[in-house]
Amino acid sequence: MGRTKHIGAASADRIKDKRKMQPSPEVLIEGIHKGDIALLARALTSIESTKKADRDKAHSIVESCLSKDIKSVRIGITGVPGVGKSTFIEAFGKLLTGEGKKVAVLAVDPSSSLSRGSILGDKTRMPELAKNPAAFIRPSPSGESLGGVARKTRESILLCEAAGFEVILIETVGVGQSEFAVHSMVDFFLLLKIAGAGDELQGIKRGIIEMADAIVINKTDGSNVKYATQARSQFERALHLYPPKNNGWVPKVLNCSALKGEGIAEVWKLITGFLSENTLNGHLELHRKDQNKNWLLQAVDDFLKTEFYRHPGVQKRLNKMMAEVQANLKSPFRAAEELLEYYTNKGSNR
Ligand code: GDP
Repeated sequence: MGRTKHIGAASADRIKDKRKMQPSPEVLIEGIHKGDIALLARALTSIESTKKADRDKAHSIVESCLSKDIKSVRIGITGVPGVGKSTFIEAFGKLLTGEGKKVAVLAVDPSSSLSRGSILGDKTRMPELAKNPAAFIRPSPSGESLGGVARKTRESILLCEAAGFEVILIETVGVGQSEFAVHSMVDFFLLLKIAGAGDELQGIKRGIIEMADAIVINKTDGSNVKYATQARSQFERALHLYPPKNNGWVPKVLNCSALKGEGIAEVWKLITGFLSENTLNGHLELHRKDQNKNWLLQAVDDFLKTEFYRHPGVQKRLNKMMAEVQANLKSPFRAAEELLEYYTNKGSNR
């Protein structure tokens, strides 16, 4: 009896060790390219790690997933909590997987590190899609900053694409600047709205309408149809006030009922129309190239800032200079210049 128990515990430990063991980057890369979901998920976990050693592995995994060809569409979906994002994604995902497409759902939710869990990308919000073998749902990576969360999500997109996912949906609730981060990583940006008390434009964050390629008024059903139709005209009028986009696309407003699955096919038709137009005129490729360039610049910015503030010599001098600046003994600009001079001459060579 005691012996059996002993063997049982040992094999349980072995199983645990096996689970803890992270596959090598080569194994992960091969798994991703074969479309192995379990290995894709483990690779995503490994690129979410902030440890320096893991970052090197992560770079090699991400680089193996880079592709010159555009094989997917990246769609950003934003809207306040309760607007119907998960219901919409569930219906939209059902339509797309029904057409034989593989759909990945990622989330950018910088509040997840505060709430210790993401409300977005939670599988229980999309029960049908979560069970669908052609769909992959991943919650927001937790990170201290939106920048960190955004970077990891961007890398996750590449891995999902290499694993054969053709439609990548990235949802956000628009906490802080998260819509801007999502916009900077997608081809098409969709704003979900519901009809309210009449003045639909109130309460919309500045800049969101300019970014939208489509505004979709959800919950166009039951007694709400009248208001939702009015809201559509109001948004259409509002969109006319904005200058045309560089790619010549004129944003559209649609109505839908995610709950009833109505108007969902029209949203996809609009997106496929956008894709053919932007593929033909070369803007899709141009846009992705620009996004890559901006991500490089953004990464350099983030890296420099982090390294600068983390430097012990800078920290010591910064505290002293802050006191001097607050006491009006030194100009903030001179203080900044001195700190940067110190960092470039000595600090960065430590
Ligand atoms: P999220 O927070 O944006 O993800 O919103 P949910 O998808 O969780 O939806 C919030 C609530 O609105 C839920 O009770 C849904 O059933 C409901 N809802 C979502 N879409 C529709 C719709 O098209 N019509 C109606 N009447 N209710 C909807």
